Amino acid sequence: MTFEPTLDFARQLDAQDPLHEFRQQFHIPPGPNGQECLYFCGNSLGLQPRTARAAAEQQFTNWQNLAVEGHFRGDSPWMNFHESLAGPSARIVGAKPVEVVVMNNLTTNLHLLLVSFYQPTATRYKVLMEGGAFPSDQYALETQVKLHGRQPDDAIVELTPRPGEHTLRTEDILAKIEELGESLATVIMGGINYYTGQVYDMAAITRAGHAVGAKVGFDLAHAAGNIPLHLHDWDVDFACWCTYKYLNSGPGGVAGAFVHERYADQPELLRLAGWWGYDETERFKMRKGFRPMRGAAGWQLSNGAILTMAVHQAALALHDAAGGMEALRRKSELLTGYLEFLITRLGLSKSQLEIITPADPAQRGCQLSLLVHQNGRDLFEHLMAVGVIGDWREPNVIRLAPVPLYNTFEDVYRVGEVLAEWASRQQPVQA
Ligand SMILES: *Cc1c(COP(=O)(O)O)cnc(C)c1O
Repeated sequence: MTFEPTLDFARQLDAQDPLHEFRQQFHIPPGPNGQECLYFCGNSLGLQPRTARAAAEQQFTNWQNLAVEGHFRGDSPWMNFHESLAGPSARIVGAKPVEVVVMNNLTTNLHLLLVSFYQPTATRYKVLMEGGAFPSDQYALETQVKLHGRQPDDAIVELTPRPGEHTLRTEDILAKIEELGESLATVIMGGINYYTGQVYDMAAITRAGHAVGAKVGFDLAHAAGNIPLHLHDWDVDFACWCTYKYLNSGPGGVAGAFVHERYADQPELLRLAGWWGYDETERFKMRKGFRPMRGAAGWQLSNGAILTMAVHQAALALHDAAGGMEALRRKSELLTGYLEFLITRLGLSKSQLEIITPADPAQRGCQLSLLVHQNGRDLFEHLMAVGVIGDWREPNVIRLAPVPLYNTFEDVYRVGEVLAEWASRQQPVQA
């Protein structure tokens, strides 16, 4: 598509957008002038669906009226509530329902899955991850390695971009996997890097990892609800994600986990167990000796956090109503492409501002990461002051994510206007 830098053009795209009405399903926070803000931070916390409060309210009512009986009675018995989330979650990540469970929080799920999928031996004990991974992932791996009596410096191998580049090349990732060979126990990477917005080639990485006998998993915090995923077909071993970013399920909301179907009937696969992962037909016999449920459900520890699960259920229903990830992706590529077009037009030099997110749409999701070499903090504060909500990542990156469920082309146009006004006040940098 040939983009045009005009409000008319943006409004025309909105008029043609089959998902345009979905914005009405969300609460858009007010900006400084009392009008709706320009929200570009769905990569950090998705907006509240208008259906969320009633969904939680319903469970408050059930609790009020049914108390302990709510586990077995009412419109959505709590005993089985998590089962209702497996189907919609599986559609988000490209899995079979038996491969998915909704439980805990993201970092907790990462630890639980690593117990099963990072089982180092004397010779095969290395972990491959992206350098500068999200801190929680770094700390999780560091302490998992220590749990096995290993030194993080020795066991953890980090991938870094080539000098002068900001993102990883797939060929370099694959070469490192091959080089580590039989010493490699587990590959764990983001599906999308939180800082640069780069999408990794999960299918190729999984194939390469399996070729050397390693397990391969992904942290999908920035990928779930952002890009189409095919975890089952890609043959990924395990994955986890949070639901408060692109899945709009509320701050600290319940998270997801994926375990490939080939492990569904391996009760002997080591895991940390709890009663909710126990074979549900026998759970209440309270016997000694752990016998897991089939599939990902066998990794559950505790009975479900119903209030946040109810919100998640309402949010997932919106993704389904919008036509799923393929429909969202079509709009997302255009929205992000339009933002890129408007930023590129500013005519700022690379030594002032550069987009470090890959230009190839196949290698990115919603988010663009702007590396602002000159007056970055000033730009960020200017954006916030005029009601553009993005986020700031040290040392000098601004992340902006137009989200297809609730952002409009007009939102993107207006951010472009704010950026253009700021850019016009910048001194050209001496070469
Ligand atoms: C957002 C995010 C987290 C957050 O972890 P929580 O356990 O949900 O607090 C972890 N890892 C990545 C890659 C993230 O983007």
